[in-house]
Amino acid sequence: MPAAKFQILRKCSVCGNEFIAKTIESYYCSSACSKIAWKRRKAEEKKQQLLDEIVKTIPQDKEMITISEAFALFGVSRETIYRLIRKGILSKFNSGVRKTYVSKTELMKLYPFRENPLTKSRSVTKLYNLEPESCYTIGEIAEKYHLNDSTVYLHIRKYSIPTRQIGNFVYVPKKEIDELYKGAKK
Ligand SMILES: [Zn+2]
Repeated sequence: MPAAKFQILRKCSVCGNEFIAKTIESYYCSSACSKIAWKRRKAEEKKQQLLDEIVKTIPQDKEMITISEAFALFGVSRETIYRLIRKGILSKFNSGVRKTYVSKTELMKLYPFRENPLTKSRSVTKLYNLEPESCYTIGEIAEKYHLNDSTVYLHIRKYSIPTRQIGNFVYVPKKEIDELYKGAKK
């Protein structure tokens, strides 16, 4: 049996057009779109770096922080901070003429610290259903997605999808496989 060509219909995460992904890692419809995505990523990296720089200048034990410091620490926007103040959820402290301070402790009760979305670990604890009725066998995946068995194994290893062997069959969660081959990555 000849090896099936790998093809997935995906939505370009830049322009939203549908396109045929030639590899599992193609997320953009054209080189123009991947260039835009790359530029956006660079800009985002820069923004995160600037925020990290601000965070470094805030003393650990500093309790009253400015709105910009709050944004750097928690990633919470100015608008959100003022909305929380208006609703009485967050206390506002004024010092001098124009500076507004908020309490770091109060914010910590509301938000986790900002995490860099680019370095944030992708490994999220997931619960997998490995009951045979919720799984495909390797053969079923190969047939459904027109791949050969070894390609399926390769992807399963590469994307750390759990498997379960029962007798001669290897079972793989349907949900993970359908997401892998069909789901357009955002
Ligand atoms: Zn595109």
